[in-house]
Amino acid sequence: MFEEILKNLAPYGAKLVAVSKTQSPEVIMEWYDRGQRLFGENRVQELVDKQGALPPDIEWHFIGHLQRNKVKYLSPFVSLIHSVDSLKLLQEINKQAQRQSRVINCLLQFHIAEEDTKFGLNLEEARTMLSAPATGALDYVSIRGIMGMATYTDDKVQIRREFRHLRSIFNTLKAEFFPGETSFSELSMGMSGDYLIALEEGSTIVRIGSLIFGERS
Ligand SMILES: *Cc1c(COP(=O)(O)O)cnc(C)c1O
Repeated sequence: MFEEILKNLAPYGAKLVAVSKTQSPEVIMEWYDRGQRLFGENRVQELVDKQGALPPDIEWHFIGHLQRNKVKYLSPFVSLIHSVDSLKLLQEINKQAQRQSRVINCLLQFHIAEEDTKFGLNLEEARTMLSAPATGALDYVSIRGIMGMATYTDDKVQIRREFRHLRSIFNTLKAEFFPGETSFSELSMGMSGDYLIALEEGSTIVRIGSLIFGERS
């Protein structure tokens, strides 16, 4: 299945984040040995523990809801935070990144699904955030693009519509706030059940867990 996923991604040039939440370091090493270097986790403590136990050339992506008081645990090493949903969180990431003398790459998370359980911004909130003078002053964060999760449903038409909506938000923000900036280029969408649709709709990063590792217990 892993090889098939890579084969499906190749024509699009999209990146694979292997979502290793709940998987042991030993299991993660099996995929590392097959060449995978990007792994995603959604809990801070679990991520910190695994980072300490696994090879330093792994790029760790944080994909879960992030509380401000936990940013400091990720700031020494995290390579991309997919889930920024407030200016306050972005400011805290900037502060902790400065302490580490590094720039931390971030994506803004959008709420595109029907369920109200999923975190994220809407377009107006993002506009307010990106046009705030305080945002312009953040030298230690780099906003690389956006992320979103489609509704958990079998309705492929709905999933495609939601991904298309996310893509249009990306295009709008790019034109309004990042014209000509190649750094704003990532669209993180697509999971095990819907990544093929996400690729067709312009995803540049898919986040896949159960299709690689098997169902989580
Ligand atoms: C768990 C998770 C995934 C992967 O889900 P699968 O259905 O196992 O592929 C992707 N993105 C986020 C934000 C997740 O929490």
